[in-house]
Amino acid sequence: MMTNNDISDIARQTDDYCFHSHTQFCDGRATMAEMAEAALNAGMKHYGFTPHSPITVESSCNMSRDSVGYYLAECDRLKDLYAGRMDIYAGMEIDYLGPQWGPASDYFQSLPLDYRIGSIHFVPTQKGEYVDIDGRFENFKWKMQEFFDNDIRWVTEQYFSQTHAMIDAGGFNIIGHFDKVGHNASHFRPGIEDESWFDTLLDGVIDHIAASGIIAEVNTKALADHHRTFPNRRLWHRLKKAGIPLIVNSDAHYPDLINAGRAETIRLLKSID
Ligand SMILES: [Zn+2]
Ligand SMILES: [Zn+2]
Repeated sequence: MMTNNDISDIARQTDDYCFHSHTQFCDGRATMAEMAEAALNAGMKHYGFTPHSPITVESSCNMSRDSVGYYLAECDRLKDLYAGRMDIYAGMEIDYLGPQWGPASDYFQSLPLDYRIGSIHFVPTQKGEYVDIDGRFENFKWKMQEFFDNDIRWVTEQYFSQTHAMIDAGGFNIIGHFDKVGHNASHFRPGIEDESWFDTLLDGVIDHIAASGIIAEVNTKALADHHRTFPNRRLWHRLKKAGIPLIVNSDAHYPDLINAGRAETIRLLKSID
């Protein structure tokens, strides 16, 4: 198992790493073997797999509990295959739902993972039903009507209160794309991220991350298509000032996107002091 320092040290020593990726075990579009080969060809020295974790609600994007053993076995096989050329790590992007299900749960803590990402993709409705708010905007817009009575402030506040609860519960090394709700929310209500209550929520999360000692990723998955990172570039200065260790992950679901947005983001991030 890796410590937070192990991960931060790697990111300090080289730009040729990525600790967030998806494959055939969840909603990725290539096999682990194909992604590993693409990572090696992209010059990666350290590459982590992070399938979407098993989850207790219906979700086509998450891996099944039955497949976790196969996933870990494939990690072991690829670790051996690439030994001496590229270090491979068995990670997982674990969904936090509540005290009953998240990175800190006994089940996830008992898995022989090298590291864990904690992410919020699902938020509870007013009725306590969990809805995935992470996907495409067309789906998000439909779900806002269907499940949330178009209450965007509820969804945003739930996203961040779930984030706080996940940090309090702990059990993970890296917090995934911690302001991602802002992407769909700002399509739903342009300018929402400039509203003062939204910024106050972000401040609270940044303070909490800093106090917890976890690593924040800067996720570049949407940079090419949507011109933004998660967290947003305008927050980077605050994150650095708060002393939060940062790493840059592509969150690729396709081999040709393995490094997408990383070089540009790393360069910009280094230029901030
Ligand atoms: Zn995610
Ligand atoms: Zn992901």
